[in-house]
Amino acid sequence: MQNKIKQLTEQLNRYAHEYYTLDAPTVPDSEYDQLYRELERLEAEFPQFRLPESPTQRVGGAILSEFASVAHAVPMLSLNNAFSPQNANGVFDHAETLAFNERVCKDLGVSSTAYTIEPKFDGLAISLLYQNGVLVQAATRGDGAVGEDVTENVKTIRNIPLKLHGNRIPTMIEVRGEVLMLKADFIALNERQIAQQQKPFANPRNAAAGSLRQLNSKIAAERKLHFFGYGIARFDGIVAENRPKTHAEELLWLAELGFSLPQSQSCHELVPSHSGRGLGRGQNSEIPLPSPLPKGEGADCRQPENVCSTKKPIPSPACGGGLGWGQYDWKVCANIAEVLQFYEQMSTKRPHLPYEIDGMVIKVNDLAQQEKLGFVSRAPRWAIAHKFPAEEALTVVEGIDVQV
Ligand code: NAD
Repeated sequence: MQNKIKQLTEQLNRYAHEYYTLDAPTVPDSEYDQLYRELERLEAEFPQFRLPESPTQRVGGAILSEFASVAHAVPMLSLNNAFSPQNANGVFDHAETLAFNERVCKDLGVSSTAYTIEPKFDGLAISLLYQNGVLVQAATRGDGAVGEDVTENVKTIRNIPLKLHGNRIPTMIEVRGEVLMLKADFIALNERQIAQQQKPFANPRNAAAGSLRQLNSKIAAERKLHFFGYGIARFDGIVAENRPKTHAEELLWLAELGFSLPQSQSCHELVPSHSGRGLGRGQNSEIPLPSPLPKGEGADCRQPENVCSTKKPIPSPACGGGLGWGQYDWKVCANIAEVLQFYEQMSTKRPHLPYEIDGMVIKVNDLAQQEKLGFVSRAPRWAIAHKFPAEEALTVVEGIDVQV
């Protein structure tokens, strides 16, 4: 068994190096996930054989020496996973996510708790540091403790504000989120690559990671990248009554500051906020529209009332029968049953989204509860990545050598 654990550790570390450091995976994510789970299971059974360099004990990969390194003031962690296999009739088995909820409720001493559920974007994690409202540094996750300084490349991403908006600009804020390439931009990039007799990319995640880690920021600027914020690591200079108390309030604050969010299921369902400006009802018109509308998504259905108002969203056939930008992709749920319902809806919607996701992230909504739950070595105990069944094996473009 010791040998098996050693062999799996070496194999997974090789795959992680190819994936995180070289942006060139050689196996599909589903294969990596399966081997990872096997290693986790064996390590739990035989903890005496677990190696210190095991991928279960660390985050991400090594950083490239070409970039200046940035030490993260707040570590950039990973997420624990839950899978929901589907039977032949398409019925999901949510046992792992229900077990997560039970653990959370037991540790909090409650019978039920509220969660947010958001897309798990298939891109790469970025940390953005703003001082007095101005973007001063952008860093990749790296190994979680130290990342790469990609500030110049990040400044070319058009939906990242170089200067924050709104009335609640902190003296310092570190925003966390995902850089990705929209599906339509990925297709256009590969068409250009082929026309210029260059290798196309295997998938949008690789294209995004390869573009962001270009030493020449002109190349990064030519590749259209997109950013979605999903969290706040730290901030300063905001009076107590204006601070977010829930994760949903954090997301809405990000929107107020000028970041794009995947549109919410229905903002009138959001937990009404404290008296803080811009977080509750009536402030929703400040939420910016997502940009840009991907090609081929039909007419622009991004009317403000569809974005975040107290009105019900108006699904429009012009937006793919309500499956395009005009619908909402994250939600505050009163309990785990609502979470699972939304997960299933998003699993149907997944192929129609303008960006790639490999699951949904479920987070305890109340920040005080998050703090109580804390962290294990490489992931928070208040969140889980609820993965979707593998959609694709490693992309093979027939007859064409792809850049993986
Ligand atoms: P992860 O991708 O499973 O989860 C953590 C990451 O999720 C965060 O760093 C963040 O970037 C991202 N994320 C996206 N949306 C988010 C949201 N709404 N809220 C919070 N975080 C969000 O963890 P990981 O450690 O980065 O990667 C592990 C995964 O990477 C594996 O499950 C596997 O699928 C893939 N991988 C593949 C290979 C391969 O060779 N194919 C190798 C290594 C890893």
